[in-house]
Amino acid sequence: NAALPDLVVVGAGLFGLTVAQQAAENGHTVEIIDVRKHIGGNAYSYTDEETGAEIHQYGAHLFHTSNKRVWDYVNRFTEFTDYQHRVYATHDGEVFPMPINLGTINQFFHAHYTPAQAQELIKEQAGELAGTDPENLNDKGIQLIGRPLYEAFIKNYTGKQWQTDPAELPASIIKRLPVRFNYDNHYFKDTWEGLPKDGYTAWMERMIDDPKIHVTLDTDFFDESQPFNKAALVGRVPIVYTGPVDRYFDYSLGDLKWRTVDFKEQRYDEDNHFGCPVMNFVDADVPYTRAIEFKNFNPERSEQQNPDRTVVWEEYSRSAGRDDEPYYPINTSDDQKLYQEYKNLAAQEPQVVFGGRLGTYAYYDMHQVINSALIAYEKQVGPLLHK
Ligand code: FAD
Ligand code: UDP
Repeated sequence: NAALPDLVVVGAGLFGLTVAQQAAENGHTVEIIDVRKHIGGNAYSYTDEETGAEIHQYGAHLFHTSNKRVWDYVNRFTEFTDYQHRVYATHDGEVFPMPINLGTINQFFHAHYTPAQAQELIKEQAGELAGTDPENLNDKGIQLIGRPLYEAFIKNYTGKQWQTDPAELPASIIKRLPVRFNYDNHYFKDTWEGLPKDGYTAWMERMIDDPKIHVTLDTDFFDESQPFNKAALVGRVPIVYTGPVDRYFDYSLGDLKWRTVDFKEQRYDEDNHFGCPVMNFVDADVPYTRAIEFKNFNPERSEQQNPDRTVVWEEYSRSAGRDDEPYYPINTSDDQKLYQEYKNLAAQEPQVVFGGRLGTYAYYDMHQVINSALIAYEKQVGPLLHK
């Protein structure tokens, strides 16, 4: 059919944009649709007029990777600043460095342990879990840092973030954070890190700056009144679908569980309210998990920022309904079973490739999404496209 592009991509997030970019580079025409009014998916950002801060509309996004292929790929479209992520946590009226490192441990115990002494202490406090490799977040947390630190820094924050018994949550959630027996307080353990020099949106616009790629926004794949809809296209043209996998199948097997985040904005008549980009609130008496002060992500832009005002977003996590933005897959063992069933259905869809955080029900960071999109293009999407 002459009217159809070679490929339709549902979702202009980093998965969809990467696949579209690869297809265009290989000579194919692509139509990208997104239900939102902008490209970029959850990595979208915009400049706040009053403060000059770059606001990450769907929560703070920090780019980091140890994957050389991904790092080289993203550097084709943007330069990165030398930003390195560091986080602080307020607990019991005191501010501690996060993730847990020797500084956190010594401040918490009012001590001056050496690395070896601190390791010995944590081993003791981990009790019978020391040296094991538990599969759930609760036991893994205690095994990594011992019970007192777990109860101070992890238990309540995790309770606010997930509202799910930590014994039901996968250990992979807590393994995201390093634990260090030295004073290194970098949040990430990856080789490369930084923020896109002129913002996330400029980066992502450049990825699809190609006449073979056309974007239609404000368009829902399930809306049959518009031409790029599921009923009209499946089986007729290769499709990459990056929306929620359960939504695609009309929730026929049940709903996969997600957490969403509500952001509450605060503005202060100050240059800098927290003195750092992210302050976690790890106690139960503060209802939000963390506060993001966006100006502090881009100190190199201080000339363009307002020295008299700052903007902060507090994050309130809650369980997501079908009409909420699905942000964090809860991934209990029941969810994982249900996802396997959807995955089996997805495998039978003719010429449809499911990808990304929503399409594969995965807690992926941006670099993982880009990596999986490059692989999906090579292994699944490319072979469906004929010259
Ligand atoms: P998305 O970005 O979600 O894109 C999917 C797109 O599909 C959306 O634009 C959506 O509108 C569209 N869509 C869905 N359904 C339909 C439909 N029916 N019709 C049309 N379009 C549809 N990663 C990091 O590396 N570092 C971080 O610091 C970081 N922080 C994060 C903080 C939060 C709060 C969240 C939620 C995520 C964070 N991430 C972070 C993860 C990052 O956002 C994702 O890895 C990445 O953006 C996912 O890209 P994606 O293309 O898979 O999905
Ligand atoms: N976490 C915690 N206390 C903190 C920071 C993180 O308990 O101060 C736990 C919590 O369970 C969280 C997980 O570690 O969900 C991963 O944290 P990360 O900052 O990587 O989460 P994200 O940035 O994806 O929200």
